[in-house]
Amino acid sequence: MTCKPYHMSFNTGLRPDPLLKVSEWADGFRMLSQTASSEPGRWRTERTPYLKEIMDALSPSSPVEKVIFMKGAQIGGTEAGNNWIGYIIDQAPGPMLVVQPTVEMGKRWSKGRLAPLIDDTPTLRDKVKDPRSRDSGNTVQSKEFTGGIVVVTGANSAVGLRSMPVRYLFLDEIDAYPRDADGEGDPVSLAIQRTATFARRKILLVSTPTIQGLSRIEREFEASDQRYYWVPCPHCHTFQILKWPQVKWDDDPLNAYYVCISCEEKIYNHQKTWMLANGEWRAANECNGKIAGFHLSSLYSPVGWLSWGQAAQNFLHAKDNEQLLKVWVNTTLGETWVDKGEAPDWQRLFERKENYPIGIVPFGGLVLTAGVDVQKDRIEVEIVAWGKNRESWSVDYCRLSYFQFVQPSWLAKLGASSSELLARQG
Ligand SMILES: [Zn+2]
Repeated sequence: MTCKPYHMSFNTGLRPDPLLKVSEWADGFRMLSQTASSEPGRWRTERTPYLKEIMDALSPSSPVEKVIFMKGAQIGGTEAGNNWIGYIIDQAPGPMLVVQPTVEMGKRWSKGRLAPLIDDTPTLRDKVKDPRSRDSGNTVQSKEFTGGIVVVTGANSAVGLRSMPVRYLFLDEIDAYPRDADGEGDPVSLAIQRTATFARRKILLVSTPTIQGLSRIEREFEASDQRYYWVPCPHCHTFQILKWPQVKWDDDPLNAYYVCISCEEKIYNHQKTWMLANGEWRAANECNGKIAGFHLSSLYSPVGWLSWGQAAQNFLHAKDNEQLLKVWVNTTLGETWVDKGEAPDWQRLFERKENYPIGIVPFGGLVLTAGVDVQKDRIEVEIVAWGKNRESWSVDYCRLSYFQFVQPSWLAKLGASSSELLARQG
């Protein structure tokens, strides 16, 4: 006798948990359109095998709540998010918010990415109401489907970010978000607040990084379990993370190859297909299991997209110009740029500031110290709380003038008035 898994919750009215994972759904149903893809036709996860684990962390069966993807260009990264949207419409409907850096970019993304995703995948086309029919109510910024809705907005619009409670939140290109949405604060925090009422929420944050210390995606990645994609050497099978210093070339940079960190044999670009297929994500940081972070540079770009040779040629083109090199580091290595000079230390420090009430030891403060500065007419005391990784908070500060602990009667015995004493000290 076989037992069918049965996930219906009778009392809460929740929908059954779909058994399909996002990657399985994409392989079975997702069609890539001629307009939005360089490789139109049926989606194949095996083309970009590193996306499988990212997509599956977004599946309802995964305990992960927040997925962080810090990435380079030309690795198909945005498709992980698109497949997730398709999956939600087809398999796990609910309210979803997609945030692009600006409302204008959101509209462009909706027309250029979301519309083809729906139009070219038959199962989605059947579920999303056709915006051309008069009663659909669907627009560029809002697509209703059976059991849910996808709303598209921009990080520059506080109104858009406050629109409705959402179970699914897709924050795209977060390093291009403004610091502040219409004077109402950090757009990422505003958007995440919208998910607070959903116990089984999913949040996806994707971006190419920008400047170190200011990059949102780097900050999010650092707070995650920090997964890197390890691939085996085709010669000695040693697993390694692909790193730029191992890319070398002789005369023609276009013929660049990769040098194995272990056997030092040359690995050629076409061998990447095998390496990617046999690679695996490994976490570099311990986390609570709810925040999965993935870092992937363009050195992992599949054969036929960006080769190591093209990356080398782009590097040579950019290396003598700071602006070009910055873009190359961000988009090819998927790493932040260390800005020397433009952003002073105080600015980076300011970005890290928190608000907390004076006089109370903030959460995370483990040890208190008091620093005392003795001046002629006063003593200044600062109480500092110290936490992990040398994080510190100024808990309280006070200034004790001598008159607070020198009694007037003593002054009388000394034969001096308080004003005389002050005058002497001054
Ligand atoms: Zn090797």
